[in-house]
Amino acid sequence: MTPTVVMKFGGTSVADPERLKRAAQRIVAKREAGNHVVAVLSARGKTTDALIAEAQEISAQPDPREMDMLLSTGERQSCALCAMAINDLGHRAISLTGSQAGIVTDTSHTKARILDVRAERIRVALDEDSIVLVAGFQGVSTAKDVTTLGRGGSDTTAVALAAAIGADVCEIYTDVAGVFSADPRVVADARKLATVSFEEMLEMSASGAGVLQLRSVEYARTHGVRIHCRSSFSDAPGTVVGDGEDTAPRPAITAVTHSTDDARVTLQHVPDAPGMAGRIATVLAEANVNIDMIIQNEPVTAGAGADMSFTVPQEDLRIALAALRVLTEELAIEIHTDESVGKVSVIGEGMKTQAGVAAKVFSTLGAEQINIQMIATSPVKISCIVARDRVTDAVRALHATFLT
Ligand code: ASP
Ligand code: MG
Repeated sequence: MTPTVVMKFGGTSVADPERLKRAAQRIVAKREAGNHVVAVLSARGKTTDALIAEAQEISAQPDPREMDMLLSTGERQSCALCAMAINDLGHRAISLTGSQAGIVTDTSHTKARILDVRAERIRVALDEDSIVLVAGFQGVSTAKDVTTLGRGGSDTTAVALAAAIGADVCEIYTDVAGVFSADPRVVADARKLATVSFEEMLEMSASGAGVLQLRSVEYARTHGVRIHCRSSFSDAPGTVVGDGEDTAPRPAITAVTHSTDDARVTLQHVPDAPGMAGRIATVLAEANVNIDMIIQNEPVTAGAGADMSFTVPQEDLRIALAALRVLTEELAIEIHTDESVGKVSVIGEGMKTQAGVAAKVFSTLGAEQINIQMIATSPVKISCIVARDRVTDAVRALHATFLT
């Protein structure tokens, strides 16, 4: 049986005619090496940003359904153009929209979730020896409207197709050489990682590593899709994301990630009574705001109010505050916000079996005179909220401690 490969090209990899033709050549080379190929393309260069800006010039609050009609065009352009390039190379190619490719989503416009992939049409085209190009980042909802999958959503398109057609690997071609031990723009000696587990990659994507959309990693883990994240500008192998790829003993941590778009909200004088945290979290959930880190302490003095702090994405801060207003007025809770925070995280399977990682993280930051404002942990992650203007120093110091 002919092996099938899904290849996804990011926006920078198809940004200009030269690059788009180079992507077409890579796709053809993969076909000529004896594979069936499904290629998922992103919108060219900054097209999606430009479309969003165009919408904002027309309307302060564009209708989400129409937004999706608009944004989905970027990926279609890439696919049609690439199909032309592949035809010129003497191979048959067809481009498909997300809807034509059978990607069925829920109805939450601009951040839809994939519910099902009905890949019949792709299978038929592959059997007819065509190369199939699928517009990333989009689908059709159960209400038959065009939807998009959230920023970076082409990664998820690629993984979902790989799962549906049983591809051997989902290759993500991008402008970086793979997944690194830290952002190479911040840490000059950051290393390209040969392998990363799903759990590590989930934590990395959730804590600021921009290389793969979080949902694509979730989808890959659930469906057991191996991802190979690699450069579109070289043939060198990149990073394989999957489980059981590497049996060598692991260092305590694999990578340091960071983000600088968090905001902290502190609620003071929260009544110390059952159900309060639930009410606060529900109000935020109903406003579709994702809370990240949460700290709450029972007051030391009985009867006094408690303090509760949490972080939200900076872009959701206004919505979060608006959502909380009724509750905080009713209960005389005082709200404080801090928009000058950031987050640094260390991530690694190795910390499951090694003691003292937290102590080393905190001491490293202490030695740099970086104050830790909040801490959160998972079995493979330790995150600290610090002042935003110290995030870079924190990343460098932690990388030096653990990874050099
Ligand atoms: N073009 C979309 C974006 O810029 C989707 C993607 O590139 O993955 O977010
Ligand atoms: Mg991307």
